[in-house]
Amino acid sequence: MDTRRPTNSAAEEILGGYFPVLDHGFVSLVDYMGGDEDVERAARVSYGYGTRTQSRTRGLVRYLRRHRHTTPSEMVELKFHCAMPMFVARQWIRHRTANVNEYSGRYSLMPLLFYTPDSEHFALQSEVNNQGRGDRAAAEVHAEAVSRWDALRHESGALYGSLLASDVAREIARIDLPLSTYTQWYWKIDLHNLLHFLTLRVDSHAQYEIRVYAEVMAAMVRRVAPLSYEAWVDYDLAGRPLSRGERRALAALVRADGEGGLVGTGAALSSDDLSGCGLSGREVREFLAKMSAPESPDFDLDLGTMRSAEEMAQLMEQAVPAPREATS
Ligand SMILES: Cc1cc2nc3c(=O)[nH]c(=O)nc-3n(C[C@H](O)[C@H](O)[C@H](O)COP(=O)(O)OP(=O)(O)OC[C@H]3O[C@@H](n4cnc5c(N)ncnc54)[C@H](O)[C@@H]3O)c2cc1C
Repeated sequence: MDTRRPTNSAAEEILGGYFPVLDHGFVSLVDYMGGDEDVERAARVSYGYGTRTQSRTRGLVRYLRRHRHTTPSEMVELKFHCAMPMFVARQWIRHRTANVNEYSGRYSLMPLLFYTPDSEHFALQSEVNNQGRGDRAAAEVHAEAVSRWDALRHESGALYGSLLASDVAREIARIDLPLSTYTQWYWKIDLHNLLHFLTLRVDSHAQYEIRVYAEVMAAMVRRVAPLSYEAWVDYDLAGRPLSRGERRALAALVRADGEGGLVGTGAALSSDDLSGCGLSGREVREFLAKMSAPESPDFDLDLGTMRSAEEMAQLMEQAVPAPREATS
């Protein structure tokens, strides 16, 4: 049956497809409601599904995002099915504005799938960021970690299997599965809050293991609402707010030329001058970082990796322990 709802061919192309993330995880866009035109329709509170010109919609979508008029983008919704290690889920669940339904370890058997960082992402503690990674760790340290993780997970999975085989309740049998165990959920959120989530989680300060999910989801947003995606990249992701002190510094360097352009004042500001603008040492460093030209993030999906729901379900199913089989 043909639908009368607004759809987007780029989103339809991936709808229900599963994109692998990390070693056993995935993200699937299982449904969406609306797109850029719905942001415009809500903003204008207009009637019907008339076709607007792309440039008119783009102008409005960009204006709304620049001026933080966000409620029209709450009219667009996206629903995802995702599988991620529990420690990633724990960060993800902090975003309170989504509707979530998680796989139940009380009701269902947990697939014994555990996340193992590859050597590229197995790093030492950062010396500059208490919450981050620094240089790559030595190959032997990685090999030792993988070997010990394997042993722990084997033991933990075996205990889980044997408790199930003894008919212990699933809600108890699962309590010592490690944080690396994959869980999954349905996660529905409106576009406004999703873009907030993505701003925080595609950022380089976010942990790599959640960032890779956010990157796939950003690429999905690009297909559902390309104009909103573009405005988000331009104003939120690659844009930076300026403090009063930073504006004072910039105003000393450039001014409007009165003909719609900008002209340099010829001034140069030393670090002392920047302190004189009211910026602390750390603020000066952050300001200078803001002054470098932003990179253009380009989130895209590799359609060659897309898998079917059946294939993904089968992989999960195969990882569930057979409940009545004794395990060592
Ligand atoms: C790099 C990074 C490091 C982090 N480190 C830590 C950490 O060490 N410890 C830790 O506990 N958390 C940490 N967090 C989580 C962080 O503090 C937030 O809880 C998380 O990012 C969710 O952000 P949010 O509240 O803006 O999002 P959401 O929950 O999605 O909320 C979206 C917006 O809705 C509004 N909102 C939602 N609920 C309320 C409410 N009850 N009251 C008022 N306004 C509300 C706010 O404006 C909020 O920004 C970290 C996050 C990041 C990205």
